[in-house]
Amino acid sequence: MAGTLEFSPDDRYNAFITTCSTAPFSDGTLAGIAVAVKDNISTAGIETTCGSKILESYVPPYDAYVVGLLRKAGAAIVGKTNMDEFGMGTTTETSAFGPTKNPADPSRVPGGSSGGSAAAVAADLVPMALGTDTGGSIRCPAAFCGIVGLKPTYGRVSRYGLIAYANSLEQIGPMARTVEDASRLMSVIAKYDPRDSTMLDRPYDHRPSADIAGLRIGIPEEYFGEGVDPRVAETVRNAIAVLEGLGAETVTVSIPGMRHALAAYYVICTSEASSNLARFDGVRYGPAVDTRKTWHEAYQDLREEKFGTEVRRRVMLGTFALSAGYAGRYYAKAQVARRNIMQDFERALRDADIIAGPTMPTVAFRLGEKTDPLSMYLSDILTVPANLAGIPAISVPCGRIDGLPVGLQLMGRQFEDERVVDAAYAYEQEVRA
Ligand code: GLN
Repeated sequence: MAGTLEFSPDDRYNAFITTCSTAPFSDGTLAGIAVAVKDNISTAGIETTCGSKILESYVPPYDAYVVGLLRKAGAAIVGKTNMDEFGMGTTTETSAFGPTKNPADPSRVPGGSSGGSAAAVAADLVPMALGTDTGGSIRCPAAFCGIVGLKPTYGRVSRYGLIAYANSLEQIGPMARTVEDASRLMSVIAKYDPRDSTMLDRPYDHRPSADIAGLRIGIPEEYFGEGVDPRVAETVRNAIAVLEGLGAETVTVSIPGMRHALAAYYVICTSEASSNLARFDGVRYGPAVDTRKTWHEAYQDLREEKFGTEVRRRVMLGTFALSAGYAGRYYAKAQVARRNIMQDFERALRDADIIAGPTMPTVAFRLGEKTDPLSMYLSDILTVPANLAGIPAISVPCGRIDGLPVGLQLMGRQFEDERVVDAAYAYEQEVRA
């Protein structure tokens, strides 16, 4: 079976930046299945903008490794999804192409930064999509839109062809309506690629199992504390009780390093971003600059005009954090905090097989509600720890509050993505039945 898939969605939520009206597909395990790809993942011949004006009309000459794997599996790549500019945001409102709306309630944000992928799946335009997760960008929109999203273990999915935001934190991962479909997509994309030097040869090829008898679930008090909406906490506790009903046991664990997680994350991600985004200079990447001007003027004009406010803020923060005289005070300290968090998770995951908590501290915000950057950053508190520790984490829908979806987050040991998938699957099968 091979052919082309016609794709002309009613994109009322602004989930896509680019759609491919006829998408070719070949034979394979995903033959003819429409898959949407986040717009920071390179697609040969298809515009890839990262949600930014600076890459408007950029067409990559090659496919990201995962995109090649999708094509080989027969998937029809039907479009590129909307996102916060370069992945910097929690709502998809920093996109240069307008915000995406949440299909569960169009007056609300879909979460971010993979909000377009989540909305496309939630609105039934595609059954599955790729997202990327640097500090929660797969799990947050999955939770806000009521779908499944997996951030794989760091080093399990190739980042070759992913336009980097913060290399040491991010992974490409699957988003879908069901755990089974997320796992299917993960089985296609998680294959060893020697071109990503941070990968280990630990391919994922797994059919989920709902047998979780004897599974030890760690409950960190930090995930139910300050800043977490009590209704969200209660909804998630009820979901954990469902897992107990299936034979899992719960133990209390602690991640004391969490109190420095956000600060560490925002120092590390902005530092890496300031270095990664230097290539958008109108010479290597970005529209050509006016050569009558001096280099500094031309560079400044271009970046001021084409980068959005949040991107410029982060480049400046990161440049400052790395600058002579300050790097020891910020960047080096953030790395210490990161190491502590990793060790906390290592310890907690000796007493428990997985760790459970809410994905997000609240339900989806109203469009335009978060106006100051700090309050936006604070909402990432429950997702960034898994990126700092490099561990797998899945978000699975676990109920609604006033009609708005809530996500249950399950985290596991490095390279035990299968285990968090199984626990999510067990929960999903039980509540569906
Ligand atoms: N909201 C976080 C940030 O803005 C996470 C984004 C992401 O995972 N790409 O950095």
